[in-house]
Amino acid sequence: MAPNQATTTRATSTEPLDESGRRVAIIGAGASGLAAIKCCLDEGLVPVCFERTSEFGGLWRYKDDPVEGQGCVMKSTVINVSKEMMSYSDFPAPENLPIFMHNSQVCRRLLSLKVLS
Ligand SMILES: Cc1cc2nc3c(=O)[nH]c(=O)nc-3n(C[C@H](O)[C@H](O)[C@H](O)COP(=O)(O)OP(=O)(O)OC[C@H]3O[C@@H](n4cnc5c(N)ncnc54)[C@H](O)[C@@H]3O)c2cc1C
Repeated sequence: MAPNQATTTRATSTEPLDESGRRVAIIGAGASGLAAIKCCLDEGLVPVCFERTSEFGGLWRYKDDPVEGQGCVMKSTVINVSKEMMSYSDFPAPENLPIFMHNSQVCRRLLSLKVLS
């Protein structure tokens, strides 16, 4: 793909949604977009997320070969927020994860929210 050429991956909820629910457009499926999808679902809204790349997770999805215009953590990046602080109350982090997670663990946690289809 040429730099800055946008493709859009559309992700919607896997939940059966009430026809009367209001649709909410969410741009980007990084940490913020995924949280926004979860909040919409929690409130009975219908999220439709548009992601310009073919993958979800935003900059927490490490790439061996950086892509121009797309941010990415370094291979060694460890998050500086504890798992307790960054967890949702209804989706606590497992005991076996370190308090400060490696970027691969952060990405897996984001994707395991299961808010995408
Ligand atoms: C190297 C680095 C390390 C960091 N470490 C920490 C840390 O340890 N702790 C911390 O709290 N924060 C950290 N941050 C801050 C970081 O910004 C957040 O952790 C978080 O990733 C931000 O999520 P986001 O969804 O806002 O952005 P991103 O993760 O950048 O995701 C944005 C998404 O939107 C998509 N997108 C962008 N434009 C469009 C468009 N026009 N149409 C469709 N899709 C679009 C992108 O492709 C991407 O998937 C770090 C940031 C960087 C750069």
